[in-house]
Amino acid sequence: MTSTTATATPATTTTTAGSPAITVTGLSKSYGDKVVLDGIDLHIPEGTIYALLGPNGAGKTTTVQILSTLIPADSGQALLAGHDLVREAGAVRAAIGVTGQFAAVDNLLTAEENLLLMADLLHLARREGRRRAAELLRRFELTEAAKKPVSTFSGGMRRKLDLAMTLVGRPRIIFLDEPTTGLDPRSRRTMWEIIHSLVADGVTIFLTTQYLEEADQLADRIAVLDHGKLVAEGTAEELKRLIPGGHIRLRFLDPDRLESAAALFGSAAYDSEALTLHIPSDGGIPALRAVLDGLDDASIEAEALTVHTPDLDDVFLTLTGQPKPSGDAINSPKENAR
Ligand code: ADP
Repeated sequence: MTSTTATATPATTTTTAGSPAITVTGLSKSYGDKVVLDGIDLHIPEGTIYALLGPNGAGKTTTVQILSTLIPADSGQALLAGHDLVREAGAVRAAIGVTGQFAAVDNLLTAEENLLLMADLLHLARREGRRRAAELLRRFELTEAAKKPVSTFSGGMRRKLDLAMTLVGRPRIIFLDEPTTGLDPRSRRTMWEIIHSLVADGVTIFLTTQYLEEADQLADRIAVLDHGKLVAEGTAEELKRLIPGGHIRLRFLDPDRLESAAALFGSAAYDSEALTLHIPSDGGIPALRAVLDGLDDASIEAEALTVHTPDLDDVFLTLTGQPKPSGDAINSPKENAR
C-alpha cells in the first residue's frame, strides 16, 4: 500500500453506537490461478481495533485494497459504515482513511504543506484547513518540525505525518496496513499510543500486522489469515486458549495438601519443592470452576491459583505452521514441573 486515500468530502456517515463498522461476507479474490482470498467473513463493531494477522503473502494487503475500494473483489459483499462497497463506493471512500506501510507524504514539502495540500484536496475552507493542520501537528508532536521538509524526517515522524494526513478528512474507519513495520521500538510504542487515542474518539481501526505483539497490545479482536483463509478469530485471550499448552497452577501451604490435590487431579504434574501443581487446561471459566469445585468437595485449601495460557507466538505457529517472526515461546511451563 502506498496511498493515502483522499476523501472528496469529510465523512458525514451517522452510525449508532455498537453498530458494525465493517461487515464482510464471502470475500474472494484470485490472480490467475492463484487464490489470494478464499471466502473471508468479517464483523467489526464500531469504535474497536481489529487486527488482521498473518505471515507474508497471506492476503492482508489485498484485503485492505479491496475494502478501501482500490481493487475489486471477484465475489462477496462488504458494508462499510453502512454503505455497500461496490454500489456506494463514493460514500465508502468518504468514510474511510488509508495509511500504508510506505508513507505517502511528499518529501519536498514541509509537514505543514503536506497537511494543507490534503486539506485542499478535501475542499476544506482555507481557515478550516489551517486550523485542522495546526491541530494535527500538535496532536502528533510535529509542531516544531512543521516548517521542515519531510526529507529530513525520521521514519517514525513520516509515519506520524502519514497518519495525520489521513485524519484531515475525519474518517470514521481507518485502515492501517502494517503501520509500524520498520520502526524502532520507541516509535512503535508512540504509534500504538496514537492508535489507542483514535479509538477513544469512536473511530474504528482495521489494522494488518505481522507482529504478534502488536496485535496483542492493540486489538480488541484478531483474525489470523493464512493462505487466503481465516484460520482463527477472537480476542487475544480466546486465541491463546485455542491451542494446547495452557495450565492451571495451584500452590499449597504444605506437602500433605499438595499430595491430596495431586491424587485428586490424576494427570497433573507437581513440584514438591515449590509446592505447586499443574493441571492441563484451556484456562476457561468452566475449567477453573471444575478445579475449584473439586478442591472444595475434597476440602483441600489452595494458597494461590494462576492461569497460564500460551502466547500468540504459539497460536501463530500452530495455526499457520510458520516460524514465529519474533519472541520466545512460553508453551512449556517455566516452573520446574515433573
Ligand atoms: P500480505 O499483505 O499478507 O503479505 P498480499 O495481499 O500482499 O499479502 O499478497 C497475497 C498474495 O497475492 C501474494 O502471494 C502475492 O504475491 C499475491 N498478489 C498480490 N497482488 C498481486 C497482483 N497484483 N498480481 C498477482 N499476484 C498478486
